[in-house]
Amino acid sequence: MENRPSLLGLTKIQISEVLKPFRQPAYRADQIFKWIHHHNVDSFEEMSNISKDFRQQLSDHFTIKTLGLVEKNIASDGTEKYLWKLPDGKHMESVLIPDKKRNTICISSQVGCSLGCHFCATGTMGLLRNLTPGEIVEQVLQVMKISQNRITNVVFMGMGEPFMNYPRVIQACKILGDPEGVAIATKRITISSSGIVPKIYQYTDDKLPYGLAISLHAPDQALREKIMPIAHKFPLDSLMDSIRYFMNAKKRNRITFEYVLLHGINDTQAEARKLISLLSPIRCKLNLIPCNQNHLGFNAPPPEALEEFVALMMKAPFTVTVRKNRGEDITAACGQLAVEIAEKSIFMKI
Ligand code: SF4
Repeated sequence: MENRPSLLGLTKIQISEVLKPFRQPAYRADQIFKWIHHHNVDSFEEMSNISKDFRQQLSDHFTIKTLGLVEKNIASDGTEKYLWKLPDGKHMESVLIPDKKRNTICISSQVGCSLGCHFCATGTMGLLRNLTPGEIVEQVLQVMKISQNRITNVVFMGMGEPFMNYPRVIQACKILGDPEGVAIATKRITISSSGIVPKIYQYTDDKLPYGLAISLHAPDQALREKIMPIAHKFPLDSLMDSIRYFMNAKKRNRITFEYVLLHGINDTQAEARKLISLLSPIRCKLNLIPCNQNHLGFNAPPPEALEEFVALMMKAPFTVTVRKNRGEDITAACGQLAVEIAEKSIFMKI
């Protein structure tokens, strides 16, 4: 296993701290940060405006990239799924969704997840560990390089609950948004949470500029509890209070709600009506996501049921979008590939 620390997850100030013993000029940290995040180099050797001797010292003490690509699958609709091996042998994944005007990467914040939502493949793994800021940022850098695509949007909707790894996720956002690095516009970075209420208050008080999405998935407490165990700890009422607190602090912003449609569970006309009355007082956008088929036994609504649900939702006073099912032929829903690997590895060490 690699013992040299990576510089990839460090801010410029942190890089200058670790370089102190090397007695380098103050601008060196900025140069290195720019090489890693703007030029997206794989090795210190490529940093041509740094002396050969110091490049060698950097290579002796530090590393840059640590993720190994295990598998890349491209779906018939262009969605790309990347399965990564971490230095400790664990696996996690990222999904690139190219579209006409934008390229969105869906990244992971944890290996596995402790929240155990019943419809989610990642939830079946439990939490294996938090990702470091470097492992989070590297997903974006590697996918940009491998796919030769510019990334315009970043969403934390891969494996894990980002607010359960708060400080590392926020550090990764700061690095991704740095104008001298990948320079993703801060409003195009979205943290998607299942509703960790104290963290929504903290996120609001920290006055961070990134977007917030809430995975709602049910319009009332009873149903939410049935499919999302976290709702026992943070009931819907307290979640909505925290969202109102966030919205009051962010006067001009609107918030996004995600609602995965599970046939026979949360896709009836009654639920559509409850959803409209729950969300109408809030400046929001609702993103309906027909469930990707997985081995957990949940299905997307059939076309007629989906049409009826959407037709009713279109009467809502807020924006409603329906996400196309992307990458179904490559198991692109969060955690599906990594779960397959975890299940296989019970039988064969890979
Ligand atoms: S849906 Fe998100 S929060 Fe729920 S188990 Fe899956 S990864 Fe965790």
